[in-house]
Amino acid sequence: MDNIKEINEYLDRVLVSKEQIQEMVADLGKRITEDYNGKKLILIGVLKGGFVFLSDLVREIKIPVEMDFIAVSSYGSSTKTSGVVRLIKDIDVPLNDKHVIIVEDIIDSGLTLTYLKEMFAARNPLSLKICTAFDKPERRKVELKAEYSGIEIPDEYVVGYGLDYDGILRNLPELYVLDRKIYEK
Ligand code: 5GP
Repeated sequence: MDNIKEINEYLDRVLVSKEQIQEMVADLGKRITEDYNGKKLILIGVLKGGFVFLSDLVREIKIPVEMDFIAVSSYGSSTKTSGVVRLIKDIDVPLNDKHVIIVEDIIDSGLTLTYLKEMFAARNPLSLKICTAFDKPERRKVELKAEYSGIEIPDEYVVGYGLDYDGILRNLPELYVLDRKIYEK
């Protein structure tokens, strides 16, 4: 039989509750609604991690909005990114007549979004901004700030609300600190 763990065996503690996440998403949705009223807006979600946040966020935006997805993977171990980004799926619409917001789950070193910002800027959108659910400013390796930033968290490896450990745990509705014994052997 497969040696499958119970979900609690992966988790150390809740870092951000469901209620705090809901409040953060509602607030960001309201700001985006106000800032982009009357403008042609596209949200570009970064798969896989960004899908939970994007799906909640779009329902808090009260203006017409298009959405699309890109998929990236970064080389490295399961809890450390290397900063080398590989584009697996691109969007298929031009951006030169649109305002763009890239929607990410978390900013850590900032390398992924620096790469994506440069890639999208080259397509000449009307404007280009970043929206992230969580941010670990202490970990930055390059200067990068999200115009729409949800909740700052400490330097911990987190899971849930779209964020994974080794492909699993994205389905947790809260944000948890991953138990260190899972990856420190
Ligand atoms: P960056 O390029 O800013 O270092 O990292 C961005 C990506 O690394 C995120 O989109 C996410 O996939 C992954 N990442 C960074 N920190 C964490 C974390 O604490 N937990 C999880 N599950 N992924 C993370």
